[in-house]
Amino acid sequence: MIKISGKGVCGGIAIGKVSKFDRGDVKVKRAHVEDVEKEKKRYEAAKAAAEQELDEIYKKALVEVGEANAQIFEIHKMMLDDDDYNDSIINIIETQAVSSEYAVAVTGDNFAQMFAAMDDAYMNARSADVKDISNRLIKNLSKESGGGSDVNEAAIICADDLAPSETVSLDKSKVLAFVTAYGSSNSHTAILARTMNIPAVIGTGEEMLKAVDNAELIIVDGKAGVIYIDPDDKTIEEMREKQNADAKRRELLDQLKGKENVTLDGTKVNIFSNIGSINDIGAVLTNDAGGIGLFRSEFLYLESEDFPTEEEQFRAYKRVLESMAGKKVIIRTLDIGADKQVDYFGLGKEDNPALGYRAIRICLTQPEIFKVQLRALYRASAYGNLGIMFPMITSVSEVEKIMKIVDEVKAELSEQDIMYSDSIELGIMIETPAAAIISDMLAPMVDFFSVGTNDLTQYTLACDRQNSKIDDFCDTHHEAVLRLIELAAKNAHDNGIWIGICGELAADTTLTERFLRMGIDELSVSPGHVLNLRNTVRNLDLR
Ligand code: PEP
Ligand code: MG
Repeated sequence: MIKISGKGVCGGIAIGKVSKFDRGDVKVKRAHVEDVEKEKKRYEAAKAAAEQELDEIYKKALVEVGEANAQIFEIHKMMLDDDDYNDSIINIIETQAVSSEYAVAVTGDNFAQMFAAMDDAYMNARSADVKDISNRLIKNLSKESGGGSDVNEAAIICADDLAPSETVSLDKSKVLAFVTAYGSSNSHTAILARTMNIPAVIGTGEEMLKAVDNAELIIVDGKAGVIYIDPDDKTIEEMREKQNADAKRRELLDQLKGKENVTLDGTKVNIFSNIGSINDIGAVLTNDAGGIGLFRSEFLYLESEDFPTEEEQFRAYKRVLESMAGKKVIIRTLDIGADKQVDYFGLGKEDNPALGYRAIRICLTQPEIFKVQLRALYRASAYGNLGIMFPMITSVSEVEKIMKIVDEVKAELSEQDIMYSDSIELGIMIETPAAAIISDMLAPMVDFFSVGTNDLTQYTLACDRQNSKIDDFCDTHHEAVLRLIELAAKNAHDNGIWIGICGELAADTTLTERFLRMGIDELSVSPGHVLNLRNTVRNLDLR
Protein backbone atom coordinates (compact mmCIF):
# COMPACT_ATOMS: atom_id res chain seq x y z
CA MET A 1 0.00 0.00 0.00
CA ILE A 2 1.20 3.52 -0.80
CA LYS A 3 -0.22 6.50 1.09
CA ILE A 4 0.09 9.94 -0.50
CA SER A 5 -1.06 13.23 0.97
CA GLY A 6 -2.33 16.26 -0.92
CA LYS A 7 -4.90 18.93 -0.24
CA GLY A 8 -8.49 17.84 0.26
CA VAL A 9 -10.80 20.24 -1.56
CA CYS A 10 -14.05 18.32 -1.26
CA GLY A 11 -14.80 15.86 1.54
CA GLY A 12 -16.07 12.28 1.36
CA ILE A 13 -14.59 8.81 0.88
CA ALA A 14 -14.39 7.11 -2.51
CA ILE A 15 -13.16 3.56 -3.07
CA GLY A 16 -12.68 2.32 -6.60
CA LYS A 17 -10.64 1.56 -9.65
CA VAL A 18 -8.23 4.05 -11.15
CA SER A 19 -9.02 5.74 -14.41
CA LYS A 20 -5.94 7.63 -15.48
CA PHE A 21 -6.95 10.67 -17.40
CA ASP A 22 -5.58 10.34 -20.90
CA ARG A 23 -5.54 13.67 -22.58
CA GLY A 24 -4.80 12.05 -25.91
CA ASP A 25 -2.20 14.78 -26.47
CA VAL A 26 -0.97 15.01 -29.99
CA LYS A 27 2.74 15.58 -30.59
CA VAL A 28 3.00 18.56 -32.90
CA LYS A 29 5.92 18.73 -35.32
CA ARG A 30 6.91 21.72 -37.45
CA ALA A 31 5.48 20.59 -40.83
CA HIS A 32 5.90 22.62 -44.02
CA VAL A 33 2.77 23.21 -46.18
CA GLU A 34 2.63 24.09 -49.88
CA ASP A 35 -0.82 25.67 -49.98
CA VAL A 36 -1.08 28.36 -47.32
CA GLU A 37 -4.68 29.33 -48.26
CA LYS A 38 -5.83 25.72 -47.93
CA GLU A 39 -4.10 25.53 -44.55
CA LYS A 40 -5.90 28.67 -43.36
CA LYS A 41 -9.23 27.08 -44.37
CA ARG A 42 -8.30 23.95 -42.39
CA TYR A 43 -7.70 26.16 -39.38
CA GLU A 44 -11.06 27.96 -39.79
CA ALA A 45 -12.88 24.60 -39.96
CA ALA A 46 -11.16 23.34 -36.81
CA LYS A 47 -12.06 26.60 -35.06
CA ALA A 48 -15.73 26.31 -36.08
CA ALA A 49 -15.80 22.73 -34.76
CA ALA A 50 -14.22 23.85 -31.48
CA GLU A 51 -16.87 26.57 -31.13
CA GLN A 52 -19.60 24.01 -31.58
CA GLU A 53 -18.02 21.70 -29.02
CA LEU A 54 -17.76 24.53 -26.52
CA ASP A 55 -21.46 25.31 -27.02
CA GLU A 56 -22.26 21.68 -26.19
CA ILE A 57 -19.99 21.66 -23.14
CA TYR A 58 -21.54 24.93 -21.94
CA LYS A 59 -25.03 23.43 -22.14
CA LYS A 60 -23.89 20.33 -20.25
CA ALA A 61 -22.15 22.43 -17.60
CA LEU A 62 -25.22 24.64 -17.19
CA VAL A 63 -27.25 21.62 -16.10
CA GLU A 64 -24.53 19.98 -14.02
CA VAL A 65 -22.75 22.83 -12.28
CA GLY A 66 -24.89 25.95 -12.75
CA GLU A 67 -24.52 29.16 -14.71
CA ALA A 68 -21.73 30.74 -12.67
CA ASN A 69 -19.44 27.74 -13.17
CA ALA A 70 -20.47 27.13 -16.78
CA GLN A 71 -19.42 30.68 -17.59
CA ILE A 72 -15.82 29.54 -18.05
CA PHE A 73 -16.77 27.92 -21.38
CA GLU A 74 -18.19 31.20 -22.61
CA ILE A 75 -14.81 32.68 -21.74
CA HIS A 76 -13.14 29.89 -23.73
CA LYS A 77 -15.30 30.80 -26.71
CA MET A 78 -14.32 34.45 -26.36
CA MET A 79 -10.65 33.49 -26.16
CA LEU A 80 -11.04 31.32 -29.24
CA ASP A 81 -12.38 34.35 -31.04
CA ASP A 82 -9.75 36.73 -29.72
CA ASP A 83 -8.19 38.80 -32.52
CA ASP A 84 -4.64 38.69 -31.16
CA TYR A 85 -4.78 34.92 -30.75
CA ASN A 86 -6.17 34.33 -34.25
CA ASP A 87 -3.90 36.91 -35.92
CA SER A 88 -0.89 35.18 -34.41
CA ILE A 89 -1.97 31.77 -35.77
CA ILE A 90 -2.75 33.07 -39.26
CA ASN A 91 0.45 35.09 -39.30
CA ILE A 92 2.57 32.02 -38.45
CA ILE A 93 0.84 29.96 -41.17
CA GLU A 94 1.29 32.73 -43.76
CA THR A 95 4.84 33.81 -43.00
CA GLN A 96 6.35 30.42 -42.19
CA ALA A 97 4.20 28.21 -44.48
CA VAL A 98 3.71 25.71 -41.68
CA SER A 99 0.83 23.50 -40.57
CA SER A 100 -2.06 24.90 -38.53
CA GLU A 101 -1.25 22.44 -35.73
CA TYR A 102 2.20 23.96 -35.39
CA ALA A 103 0.89 27.56 -35.59
CA VAL A 104 -1.71 26.83 -32.88
CA ALA A 105 0.83 25.06 -30.65
CA VAL A 106 3.32 27.93 -30.85
CA THR A 107 0.64 30.59 -30.31
CA GLY A 108 -0.90 28.61 -27.44
CA ASP A 109 2.48 28.29 -25.72
CA ASN A 110 3.28 31.97 -26.17
CA PHE A 111 -0.07 33.13 -24.83
CA ALA A 112 0.01 30.66 -21.93
CA GLN A 113 3.47 31.88 -20.94
CA MET A 114 2.37 35.49 -21.22
CA PHE A 115 -0.63 34.89 -18.90
CA ALA A 116 1.47 32.87 -16.45
CA ALA A 117 4.00 35.71 -16.17
CA MET A 118 1.38 38.33 -15.31
CA ASP A 119 1.28 39.65 -11.78
CA ASP A 120 -2.37 38.86 -11.30
CA ALA A 121 -3.93 35.65 -10.01
CA TYR A 122 -6.96 35.93 -12.32
CA MET A 123 -4.82 36.35 -15.45
CA ASN A 124 -2.49 33.52 -14.31
CA ALA A 125 -5.48 31.19 -14.25
CA ARG A 126 -6.21 32.12 -17.91
CA SER A 127 -2.93 30.39 -18.84
CA ALA A 128 -4.57 26.97 -18.32
CA ASP A 129 -7.59 28.14 -20.33
CA VAL A 130 -5.57 29.19 -23.37
CA LYS A 131 -3.75 25.80 -23.26
CA ASP A 132 -7.13 24.11 -23.09
CA ILE A 133 -8.51 25.84 -26.20
CA SER A 134 -5.25 25.31 -28.10
CA ASN A 135 -5.30 21.56 -27.32
CA ARG A 136 -8.90 21.40 -28.48
CA LEU A 137 -7.97 23.03 -31.80
CA ILE A 138 -4.96 20.75 -32.29
CA LYS A 139 -7.08 17.67 -31.64
CA ASN A 140 -9.67 18.83 -34.14
CA LEU A 141 -6.97 19.53 -36.70
CA SER A 142 -5.41 16.13 -36.17
CA LYS A 143 -8.85 14.53 -36.39
CA GLU A 144 -7.99 12.65 -33.25
CA SER A 145 -10.81 11.50 -31.02
CA GLY A 146 -11.30 13.82 -28.09
CA GLY A 147 -8.97 12.08 -25.61
CA GLY A 148 -10.33 12.15 -22.11
CA SER A 149 -10.82 9.37 -19.71
CA ASP A 150 -12.33 6.17 -20.93
CA VAL A 151 -14.69 5.78 -18.03
CA ASN A 152 -16.99 2.87 -18.70
CA GLU A 153 -17.58 1.99 -15.12
CA ALA A 154 -17.49 4.19 -12.05
CA ALA A 155 -13.87 5.06 -11.27
CA ILE A 156 -11.53 7.53 -9.59
CA ILE A 157 -10.05 9.97 -12.07
CA CYS A 158 -6.30 10.52 -11.62
CA ALA A 159 -4.69 13.29 -13.65
CA ASP A 160 -1.77 15.71 -13.64
CA ASP A 161 -4.30 18.51 -13.58
CA LEU A 162 -7.77 18.90 -15.06
CA ALA A 163 -8.88 21.82 -17.16
CA PRO A 164 -12.43 23.03 -16.49
CA SER A 165 -13.64 21.72 -19.86
CA GLU A 166 -12.12 18.31 -19.11
CA THR A 167 -13.80 18.17 -15.72
CA VAL A 168 -17.20 19.05 -17.10
CA SER A 169 -16.89 16.69 -20.08
CA LEU A 170 -16.60 13.65 -17.79
CA ASP A 171 -19.68 11.55 -17.20
CA LYS A 172 -20.34 12.50 -13.56
CA SER A 173 -22.39 9.38 -12.87
CA LYS A 174 -19.17 7.41 -13.39
CA VAL A 175 -16.78 9.64 -11.46
CA LEU A 176 -16.26 8.54 -7.87
CA ALA A 177 -13.55 11.11 -7.09
CA PHE A 178 -10.83 13.32 -8.57
CA VAL A 179 -7.13 13.17 -7.72
CA THR A 180 -4.69 15.59 -9.34
CA ALA A 181 -0.94 15.99 -9.03
CA TYR A 182 -1.12 19.78 -9.26
CA GLY A 183 -3.72 22.53 -8.83
CA SER A 184 -4.70 24.97 -6.12
CA SER A 185 -7.80 25.05 -3.95
CA ASN A 186 -8.99 28.09 -5.91
CA SER A 187 -8.62 26.34 -9.27
CA HIS A 188 -11.74 25.80 -11.34
CA THR A 189 -11.45 22.05 -10.90
CA ALA A 190 -11.56 22.42 -7.12
CA ILE A 191 -14.53 24.78 -7.36
CA LEU A 192 -16.36 22.42 -9.74
CA ALA A 193 -15.63 19.40 -7.51
CA ARG A 194 -17.15 21.24 -4.55
CA THR A 195 -20.17 22.32 -6.57
CA MET A 196 -20.73 18.74 -7.76
CA ASN A 197 -19.99 17.40 -4.28
CA ILE A 198 -17.44 14.83 -5.51
CA PRO A 199 -14.55 13.90 -3.15
CA ALA A 200 -11.35 15.50 -4.44
CA VAL A 201 -7.69 15.64 -3.48
CA ILE A 202 -5.31 17.93 -5.36
CA GLY A 203 -1.60 18.68 -5.26
CA THR A 204 -0.43 15.12 -4.53
CA GLY A 205 2.72 15.65 -6.58
CA GLU A 206 3.89 13.70 -9.61
CA GLU A 207 4.72 10.52 -7.65
CA MET A 208 0.95 9.84 -7.59
CA LEU A 209 0.83 9.58 -11.40
CA LYS A 210 3.47 6.83 -11.43
CA ALA A 211 2.14 5.11 -8.34
CA VAL A 212 -1.40 4.69 -9.72
CA ASP A 213 -0.15 3.24 -13.03
CA ASN A 214 -0.70 -0.42 -12.23
CA ALA A 215 -2.90 0.03 -9.20
CA GLU A 216 -5.91 -2.25 -8.80
CA LEU A 217 -7.73 -0.14 -6.30
CA ILE A 218 -7.41 3.26 -4.67
CA ILE A 219 -9.15 5.06 -1.85
CA VAL A 220 -9.63 8.82 -1.72
CA ASP A 221 -10.28 10.49 1.61
CA GLY A 222 -11.33 13.98 0.47
CA LYS A 223 -11.64 15.38 3.96
CA ALA A 224 -8.20 14.25 5.13
CA GLY A 225 -6.64 15.02 1.72
CA VAL A 226 -5.10 11.52 1.54
CA ILE A 227 -5.11 8.75 -1.06
CA TYR A 228 -4.28 5.08 -0.50
CA ILE A 229 -2.99 3.15 -3.50
CA ASP A 230 -3.58 -0.62 -3.41
CA PRO A 231 -4.75 -0.35 0.20
CA ASP A 232 -4.34 -3.25 2.60
CA ASP A 233 -7.39 -5.02 4.02
CA LYS A 234 -7.24 -3.12 7.29
CA THR A 235 -7.31 0.28 5.51
CA ILE A 236 -10.13 -0.85 3.21
CA GLU A 237 -12.14 -1.87 6.22
CA GLU A 238 -11.42 1.37 8.07
CA MET A 239 -12.36 3.47 5.08
CA ARG A 240 -15.55 1.50 4.41
CA GLU A 241 -16.53 2.17 8.00
CA LYS A 242 -15.78 5.87 7.52
CA GLN A 243 -17.82 5.85 4.28
CA ASN A 244 -20.78 4.22 6.03
CA ALA A 245 -20.46 6.65 8.90
CA ASP A 246 -20.49 9.56 6.40
CA ALA A 247 -23.66 8.22 4.75
CA LYS A 248 -25.37 7.72 8.11
CA ARG A 249 -24.29 11.18 9.19
CA ARG A 250 -25.82 12.70 6.06
CA GLU A 251 -29.07 10.84 6.76
CA LEU A 252 -29.07 12.09 10.34
CA LEU A 253 -28.33 15.62 9.22
CA ASP A 254 -31.25 15.45 6.78
CA GLN A 255 -33.50 14.81 9.76
CA LEU A 256 -32.50 18.20 11.14
CA LYS A 257 -34.35 19.95 8.33
CA GLY A 258 -37.11 22.09 9.79
CA LYS A 259 -35.54 21.99 13.26
CA GLU A 260 -34.44 25.04 15.22
CA ASN A 261 -30.85 26.24 15.60
CA VAL A 262 -30.92 26.17 19.37
CA THR A 263 -28.40 24.98 21.96
CA LEU A 264 -29.31 22.67 24.84
CA ASP A 265 -29.52 25.69 27.14
CA GLY A 266 -31.89 27.51 24.80
CA THR A 267 -29.49 29.93 23.02
CA LYS A 268 -30.69 30.57 19.49
CA VAL A 269 -28.65 31.55 16.46
CA ASN A 270 -29.59 32.17 12.84
CA ILE A 271 -27.92 29.89 10.31
CA PHE A 272 -28.00 31.49 6.88
CA SER A 273 -26.27 30.78 3.57
CA ASN A 274 -23.77 32.54 1.33
CA ILE A 275 -24.43 32.60 -2.41
CA GLY A 276 -22.69 34.00 -5.49
CA SER A 277 -25.42 33.50 -8.03
CA ILE A 278 -29.16 33.09 -8.39
CA ASN A 279 -28.49 29.45 -9.29
CA ASP A 280 -27.35 28.72 -5.74
CA ILE A 281 -30.82 29.40 -4.30
CA GLY A 282 -31.91 25.78 -4.88
CA ALA A 283 -29.11 24.54 -2.58
CA VAL A 284 -30.03 27.18 0.03
CA LEU A 285 -33.62 25.93 0.12
CA THR A 286 -32.75 22.20 0.05
CA ASN A 287 -30.38 22.63 2.97
CA ASP A 288 -33.00 24.56 4.93
CA ALA A 289 -31.00 27.74 5.55
CA GLY A 290 -32.92 30.44 7.41
CA GLY A 291 -32.08 33.07 4.83
CA ILE A 292 -29.21 34.46 2.77
CA GLY A 293 -26.54 36.12 4.89
CA LEU A 294 -24.31 37.13 1.99
CA PHE A 295 -25.13 37.44 -1.68
CA ARG A 296 -21.83 38.35 -3.35
CA SER A 297 -23.40 40.69 -5.91
CA GLU A 298 -20.08 41.30 -7.68
CA PHE A 299 -20.60 38.01 -9.52
CA LEU A 300 -23.28 39.78 -11.57
CA TYR A 301 -20.54 42.14 -12.68
CA LEU A 302 -17.94 39.39 -13.14
CA GLU A 303 -20.30 37.45 -15.39
CA SER A 304 -21.07 40.44 -17.63
CA GLU A 305 -19.08 41.91 -20.46
CA ASP A 306 -20.15 45.41 -19.53
CA PHE A 307 -21.71 47.15 -16.54
CA PRO A 308 -24.95 45.32 -15.72
CA THR A 309 -27.82 47.78 -16.16
CA GLU A 310 -30.20 48.84 -13.40
CA GLU A 311 -32.89 46.71 -15.02
CA GLU A 312 -30.68 43.59 -15.20
CA GLN A 313 -29.67 43.97 -11.58
CA PHE A 314 -33.23 44.69 -10.47
CA ARG A 315 -34.43 41.45 -12.11
CA ALA A 316 -31.68 39.39 -10.44
CA TYR A 317 -32.27 40.84 -6.95
CA LYS A 318 -36.06 40.55 -7.33
CA ARG A 319 -35.72 36.89 -8.27
CA VAL A 320 -33.59 36.10 -5.21
CA LEU A 321 -36.00 37.94 -2.92
CA GLU A 322 -39.09 36.28 -4.41
CA SER A 323 -37.50 32.81 -4.32
CA MET A 324 -36.69 33.25 -0.63
CA ALA A 325 -40.36 34.08 0.00
CA GLY A 326 -40.05 36.56 2.85
CA LYS A 327 -36.89 35.11 4.39
CA LYS A 328 -34.11 37.65 4.97
CA VAL A 329 -31.75 38.21 2.02
CA ILE A 330 -28.63 40.30 2.62
CA ILE A 331 -27.10 41.55 -0.58
CA ARG A 332 -23.60 42.94 -0.43
CA THR A 333 -22.84 45.82 -2.76
CA LEU A 334 -20.12 45.51 -5.36
CA ASP A 335 -16.89 44.09 -3.92
CA ILE A 336 -14.53 44.02 -6.89
CA GLY A 337 -10.82 44.72 -7.08
CA ALA A 338 -7.98 42.62 -5.63
CA ASP A 339 -8.61 39.01 -6.77
CA LYS A 340 -11.94 39.87 -8.42
CA GLN A 341 -10.99 41.80 -11.54
CA VAL A 342 -13.51 43.06 -14.07
CA ASP A 343 -11.97 44.27 -17.34
CA TYR A 344 -14.53 46.94 -18.20
CA PHE A 345 -13.90 48.78 -14.92
CA GLY A 346 -10.40 49.54 -16.25
CA LEU A 347 -8.96 49.36 -12.74
CA GLY A 348 -5.37 49.13 -13.94
CA LYS A 349 -2.53 47.29 -12.32
CA GLU A 350 -1.57 47.94 -8.72
CA ASP A 351 1.38 46.73 -6.67
CA ASN A 352 -0.81 45.73 -3.71
CA PRO A 353 -4.33 45.23 -5.07
CA ALA A 354 -5.72 43.80 -1.79
CA LEU A 355 -4.70 47.07 -0.14
CA GLY A 356 -5.77 49.15 -3.09
CA TYR A 357 -8.62 50.56 -5.06
CA ARG A 358 -11.37 48.04 -4.35
CA ALA A 359 -14.92 47.50 -3.09
CA ILE A 360 -16.47 50.53 -1.37
CA ARG A 361 -13.51 52.67 -2.41
CA ILE A 362 -14.56 52.25 -6.05
CA CYS A 363 -18.23 52.89 -5.21
CA LEU A 364 -17.49 56.08 -3.31
CA THR A 365 -15.20 57.50 -6.00
CA GLN A 366 -17.56 56.48 -8.82
CA PRO A 367 -21.00 57.12 -7.26
CA GLU A 368 -22.66 56.88 -10.67
CA ILE A 369 -21.86 53.12 -10.68
CA PHE A 370 -22.86 52.75 -7.01
CA LYS A 371 -26.18 54.53 -7.56
CA VAL A 372 -27.24 52.16 -10.34
CA GLN A 373 -26.80 49.23 -7.95
CA LEU A 374 -28.54 51.00 -5.07
CA ARG A 375 -31.50 51.96 -7.26
CA ALA A 376 -31.84 48.34 -8.41
CA LEU A 377 -31.63 47.10 -4.81
CA TYR A 378 -34.18 49.58 -3.48
CA ARG A 379 -36.59 48.82 -6.31
CA ALA A 380 -36.23 45.07 -5.64
CA SER A 381 -36.82 45.61 -1.91
CA ALA A 382 -40.56 45.82 -2.59
CA TYR A 383 -40.53 42.07 -3.37
CA GLY A 384 -39.13 40.56 -0.18
CA ASN A 385 -37.13 41.03 2.99
CA LEU A 386 -33.95 42.82 1.97
CA GLY A 387 -30.84 43.84 3.87
CA ILE A 388 -27.95 45.65 2.18
CA MET A 389 -24.37 45.58 3.39
CA PHE A 390 -21.26 47.45 2.38
CA PRO A 391 -17.81 45.82 2.10
CA MET A 392 -14.29 46.91 3.12
CA ILE A 393 -15.28 49.66 5.55
CA THR A 394 -12.45 51.33 7.49
CA SER A 395 -13.88 54.66 8.70
CA VAL A 396 -16.85 56.66 9.96
CA SER A 397 -16.60 59.06 7.04
CA GLU A 398 -17.07 56.21 4.52
CA VAL A 399 -20.32 55.22 6.22
CA GLU A 400 -21.45 58.88 6.28
CA LYS A 401 -20.79 59.15 2.55
CA ILE A 402 -22.65 55.88 1.88
CA MET A 403 -25.68 57.04 3.87
CA LYS A 404 -25.73 60.34 1.97
CA ILE A 405 -25.76 58.53 -1.37
CA VAL A 406 -28.45 56.11 -0.10
CA ASP A 407 -30.60 59.12 0.89
CA GLU A 408 -30.14 60.66 -2.56
CA VAL A 409 -31.21 57.41 -4.23
CA LYS A 410 -34.28 57.14 -1.99
CA ALA A 411 -35.24 60.75 -2.72
CA GLU A 412 -34.92 60.15 -6.47
CA LEU A 413 -37.07 57.04 -6.31
CA SER A 414 -39.74 58.77 -4.22
CA GLU A 415 -39.80 61.66 -6.65
CA GLN A 416 -40.37 59.19 -9.49
CA ASP A 417 -43.11 57.43 -7.50
CA ILE A 418 -41.15 54.18 -7.51
CA MET A 419 -41.98 51.87 -4.63
CA TYR A 420 -39.40 50.55 -2.20
CA SER A 421 -39.52 49.00 1.25
CA ASP A 422 -39.10 51.33 4.21
CA SER A 423 -37.68 48.56 6.41
CA ILE A 424 -34.44 47.68 4.62
CA GLU A 425 -31.67 46.97 7.12
CA LEU A 426 -28.37 48.61 6.25
CA GLY A 427 -25.20 47.02 7.58
CA ILE A 428 -21.46 47.02 7.12
CA MET A 429 -18.90 44.28 6.85
CA ILE A 430 -16.32 44.09 9.59
CA GLU A 431 -13.43 42.80 7.55
CA THR A 432 -10.64 45.26 8.34
CA PRO A 433 -8.96 45.57 11.74
CA ALA A 434 -9.80 49.32 11.58
CA ALA A 435 -13.54 48.62 11.40
CA ALA A 436 -13.38 46.17 14.32
CA ILE A 437 -11.36 48.58 16.47
CA ILE A 438 -13.74 51.53 15.88
CA SER A 439 -16.84 49.33 15.89
CA ASP A 440 -18.15 51.37 18.87
CA MET A 441 -18.22 54.42 16.57
CA LEU A 442 -19.67 52.56 13.57
CA ALA A 443 -22.41 50.65 15.39
CA PRO A 444 -24.70 53.66 16.01
CA MET A 445 -24.65 54.40 12.28
CA VAL A 446 -25.99 51.04 10.99
CA ASP A 447 -28.51 48.24 11.63
CA PHE A 448 -26.06 45.32 11.71
CA PHE A 449 -22.48 44.11 11.37
CA SER A 450 -21.37 41.11 9.33
CA VAL A 451 -17.85 39.85 9.94
CA GLY A 452 -15.89 38.89 6.82
CA THR A 453 -13.31 36.63 8.41
CA ASN A 454 -11.54 35.90 5.11
CA ASP A 455 -10.40 39.47 4.72
CA LEU A 456 -10.24 40.21 8.44
CA THR A 457 -7.73 37.35 8.79
CA GLN A 458 -5.74 38.49 5.75
CA TYR A 459 -5.46 42.08 7.00
CA THR A 460 -4.90 41.26 10.68
CA LEU A 461 -2.21 38.64 10.10
CA ALA A 462 -0.66 40.32 7.01
CA CYS A 463 -1.30 37.08 5.09
CA ASP A 464 -2.31 37.36 1.42
CA ARG A 465 -5.35 35.07 1.17
CA GLN A 466 -4.42 34.13 -2.43
CA ASN A 467 -0.94 32.91 -1.54
CA SER A 468 -0.88 29.20 -0.62
CA LYS A 469 2.88 29.42 0.14
CA ILE A 470 2.16 31.11 3.46
CA ASP A 471 -0.65 28.77 4.58
CA ASP A 472 1.43 27.74 7.61
CA PHE A 473 1.66 31.33 8.80
CA CYS A 474 -2.03 32.00 8.43
CA ASP A 475 -3.54 30.67 11.65
CA THR A 476 -7.27 31.01 11.07
CA HIS A 477 -7.86 30.59 14.81
CA HIS A 478 -5.41 33.36 15.70
CA GLU A 479 -6.37 35.02 18.96
CA ALA A 480 -5.97 38.46 17.37
CA VAL A 481 -8.73 37.73 14.84
CA LEU A 482 -11.02 36.19 17.47
CA ARG A 483 -10.55 39.15 19.82
CA LEU A 484 -11.42 41.59 17.05
CA ILE A 485 -14.64 39.66 16.39
CA GLU A 486 -15.39 39.66 20.12
CA LEU A 487 -14.81 43.42 20.31
CA ALA A 488 -17.14 44.04 17.37
CA ALA A 489 -19.79 41.77 18.95
CA LYS A 490 -19.65 43.68 22.24
CA ASN A 491 -19.89 47.05 20.50
CA ALA A 492 -22.75 45.83 18.32
CA HIS A 493 -24.79 44.67 21.30
CA ASP A 494 -23.94 47.72 23.43
CA ASN A 495 -25.53 49.72 20.63
CA GLY A 496 -28.54 47.46 20.18
CA ILE A 497 -27.64 46.04 16.76
CA TRP A 498 -27.08 42.43 15.70
CA ILE A 499 -23.87 40.86 14.40
CA GLY A 500 -23.26 37.91 12.08
CA ILE A 501 -20.24 36.15 10.59
CA CYS A 502 -20.25 35.43 6.86
CA GLY A 503 -16.58 34.54 6.23
CA GLU A 504 -15.43 30.91 5.91
CA LEU A 505 -14.74 30.72 9.66
CA ALA A 506 -18.48 30.72 10.33
CA ALA A 507 -18.57 27.06 9.18
CA ASP A 508 -15.70 26.00 11.45
CA THR A 509 -17.55 24.01 14.09
CA THR A 510 -14.55 23.99 16.43
CA LEU A 511 -15.27 27.70 16.93
CA THR A 512 -19.07 27.59 17.16
CA GLU A 513 -19.09 27.54 20.96
CA ARG A 514 -16.73 30.49 21.15
CA PHE A 515 -18.83 32.45 18.63
CA LEU A 516 -22.03 31.75 20.54
CA ARG A 517 -20.38 32.79 23.81
CA MET A 518 -19.46 36.09 22.11
CA GLY A 519 -23.15 36.49 21.35
CA ILE A 520 -22.89 36.16 17.57
CA ASP A 521 -26.49 36.31 16.27
CA GLU A 522 -26.05 34.82 12.80
CA LEU A 523 -23.66 32.43 11.07
CA SER A 524 -23.78 32.45 7.28
CA VAL A 525 -22.12 29.50 5.52
CA SER A 526 -22.13 27.74 2.16
CA PRO A 527 -25.40 25.80 1.71
CA GLY A 528 -23.74 22.38 2.20
CA HIS A 529 -22.59 23.38 5.71
CA VAL A 530 -25.94 24.49 7.11
CA LEU A 531 -27.14 21.18 8.59
CA ASN A 532 -23.74 20.24 10.00
CA LEU A 533 -23.59 23.59 11.79
CA ARG A 534 -27.17 23.15 13.04
CA ASN A 535 -26.14 19.80 14.46
CA THR A 536 -23.18 21.34 16.31
CA VAL A 537 -25.35 24.12 17.71
CA ARG A 538 -28.02 21.68 18.93
CA ASN A 539 -25.42 19.67 20.83
CA LEU A 540 -23.83 22.64 22.60
CA ASP A 541 -24.56 23.57 26.17
CA LEU A 542 -23.36 27.03 27.16
CA ARG A 543 -24.30 26.66 30.82
C1 PEP B 1 -14.78 37.84 3.76
O1 PEP B 1 -13.87 38.61 3.46
O2 PEP B 1 -14.74 37.07 4.74
C2 PEP B 1 -16.02 37.78 2.93
C3 PEP B 1 -17.10 37.15 3.36
O3 PEP B 1 -16.00 38.33 1.71
P1 PEP B 1 -15.17 37.78 0.45
O4 PEP B 1 -14.68 36.40 0.79
O5 PEP B 1 -16.10 37.82 -0.70
O6 PEP B 1 -14.05 38.79 0.36
MG1 MG C 1 -14.17 40.17 1.98
